[in-house]
Amino acid sequence: MPETNLMLKIISLCKRRGIIYQSSEIYGGIGGFYDYGPIGVELKNNIKKAWWEDMVWKRGDVVGLDASIIMHPLVWKASGHIDSFTDPLAECKNCHLRFRADHLIKKLKDSGKLDEHGIFTEEEVKDMESVFQKIKCPECGGPFVPPRKFNLMFKTSVGPVEEEGAMAYLRPETAQGIFVDYRNVLDTARVKIPFGIAQIGKAFRNEITPGNFIFRTREFEQMEIEYFVKPGTDEKFYQDWIKWRLDWYLGLGIRKENIKIREHEKDELAHYAKACVDVEYKFPFGWSELEGIANRTDFDLKQHQKFSGKDLGYFDENEKTVYIPYVIEPSAGVDRTLIAVIVDAYSEEEVEGVKGKETRVVLKLHKRLAPIKVAVLPLLSNRQELVDKAKEIYHLLQNYFVCQYDETGSIGRRYRRMDEVGTIISVTCDFQTLEDNTVTLRDRDSMKQIRVEIQKLKDIIQKILEEEEFLKLGKLVK
Ligand code: ATP
Repeated sequence: MPETNLMLKIISLCKRRGIIYQSSEIYGGIGGFYDYGPIGVELKNNIKKAWWEDMVWKRGDVVGLDASIIMHPLVWKASGHIDSFTDPLAECKNCHLRFRADHLIKKLKDSGKLDEHGIFTEEEVKDMESVFQKIKCPECGGPFVPPRKFNLMFKTSVGPVEEEGAMAYLRPETAQGIFVDYRNVLDTARVKIPFGIAQIGKAFRNEITPGNFIFRTREFEQMEIEYFVKPGTDEKFYQDWIKWRLDWYLGLGIRKENIKIREHEKDELAHYAKACVDVEYKFPFGWSELEGIANRTDFDLKQHQKFSGKDLGYFDENEKTVYIPYVIEPSAGVDRTLIAVIVDAYSEEEVEGVKGKETRVVLKLHKRLAPIKVAVLPLLSNRQELVDKAKEIYHLLQNYFVCQYDETGSIGRRYRRMDEVGTIISVTCDFQTLEDNTVTLRDRDSMKQIRVEIQKLKDIIQKILEEEEFLKLGKLVK
């Protein structure tokens, strides 16, 4: 399938099935903002829950935090965001279209179009100002204003008077909340180095060119850990975290061939980082960053110690020394993970339908992530006894699993709807159910069906979710 086609199909599926909508759509939308619909919010919550379970609960050396989005403005001075959280902005003098300068150069270079404006050496490409003197706007052919630095932080004001002193920022990353609360956690949570603080939350960046659906938006969610280590052990933990994070994605079913680690070039590294890799996913629009893992050294804590005047040293009881810890930061995007998970799970299969061969679209999502675990579907909706029985089963299962009840349309259509959102099991009841209290379970991936007793339904579904072999759990329906 052509890759652009795949992305369009996924965007359409997301809209059609209530996964993702454009924000403020009835007002014409707003660039770079999206909403998660009834299915989307379940999927997103499952991703965050899987991360929290695996990174916090199951580890024991990582504790959680939920810091506020708006913080003291000095936080952003100390972190360097006020001075240098910028992207190069290029604007066409003629049509005033704006571009992220580095992205435009890369795009022109990759498509061979940069050469049409003169051959540039690697060194010349890095000098954006001179490149933009020579290239023309791809939209109208007009000349460019020289690129300028554009700060990505959204500004707002705190309190009723919009004066300079009350100015604040929406956080562009969750990480700084962790650094600022590091002392509090140290003093109250009985943690000892090495330990981490994890946080999931919204971040805001006024991106120059949001795009690729929810890949680059202006409001998004991050899952970040700051893992504090003794200087000198940082290289080991940096390598460990690269492995742990890659294993996490693979554990959620992401295919090995679609994910890789890319080491940052020396000139790509942030000034404070000793080393950094991106975890990249093979999106339909090319390999792109899913997560960054950086060795941030002691930069952040030292900066906050300097600006706040508070002691952020760590007393090592074993060695009776005080030091500022180094920090390893795995920083992942919830939204990018969500779209990667959908791309990876999307599959089209030719199946035998009522009217011959048809295509079924199925999201083969990992069981932990599937938004709906069980669908309950009466075979015929015009038979009240069947509807009543199906509703009884639905109400029973609702107590244990995320379920959906659906009696609209043919059974084939209802299966397709459930396949498209990755529902793991469909339970159907029919006339036989009324006679012997058994139901049919249909497995999403194989479409095989087994017959089981209603009495055992809850336990059997539990076993399926725990990856027990489907066909061993009931009598195969031919
Ligand atoms: P990019 O180079 O793509 O702009 P970045 O390197 O600036 O990303 P980080 O600052 O490392 O991103 O942020 C960590 C993670 O947060 C990213 O790996 C990504 O998953 C997520 N993220 C960052 N910016 C955005 C955005 N505009 N929209 C959605 N997710 C984002």
